[in-house]
Amino acid sequence: MAIGAIAKKTLQTFQVYLQGFVHLFYPHVCLQCASEYLSKDQIICSHCETLLPYTDFAKMQNSPVDKIFWGRIKLLKSISILFYTKESIVQKILFELKYKQNKKAGLLLGKLIATTLKESIEFDQNTYLIPIPISKVSRRKRGYNQSELICESIVANGFNVPIYKGLLKSKKHTSQTHKDRVQRGIYLDNIFKLTHFNMLSNKDIIIIDDVLTTGATIEAAYHCLLKANPKSISMVTAAYTLD
Ligand SMILES: [Zn+2]
Repeated sequence: MAIGAIAKKTLQTFQVYLQGFVHLFYPHVCLQCASEYLSKDQIICSHCETLLPYTDFAKMQNSPVDKIFWGRIKLLKSISILFYTKESIVQKILFELKYKQNKKAGLLLGKLIATTLKESIEFDQNTYLIPIPISKVSRRKRGYNQSELICESIVANGFNVPIYKGLLKSKKHTSQTHKDRVQRGIYLDNIFKLTHFNMLSNKDIIIIDDVLTTGATIEAAYHCLLKANPKSISMVTAAYTLD
């Protein structure tokens, strides 16, 4: 055997050992059922994916998500793909996305959104996805904006439209988790700003976020985006909280 071939064989053997070692400490298994039958890009196996708590709101007239915005803002479509409950697989996926730097969670959520969008919304190059922005501090901590990651996966999964990244956070503010809805309404006023908004004029825009709770964030983004004079505004989130 030539020296080159020996070196190659040794390297391959080393790689196999290394993979086994890595697998021992960081097993690549389904987040839900611990099955090992999943590709390197998957966070849950294909079987668990079919068992996720889908809302099917996209097929429904006057869905619970539509009702959240009644009397507040006029969205063309409002869709959430999954139910979010505590201790559920959806919570685990979102936790991976937001606190474990696990981009695979964003890939999955984008794929699920793309599947629904392709069935329920007509789109062309005049359709824009707009990720809800996060603060610079959160972005630095996480390494990415999770809504932007979801948008990129939506596009990669066949809902092939431009992503507009000109919606920005305009003020520094703290987490609103413990603030009540009324306070949030006041607090969220003017938290967003737009740059290069001429490109959104007469366009169909779809705001994308990870979770829908009170709808206050979407409402604030909606009012900001209205200034760009779009043809329509829709919103899609990966999950919807029941509490
Ligand atoms: Zn599984």
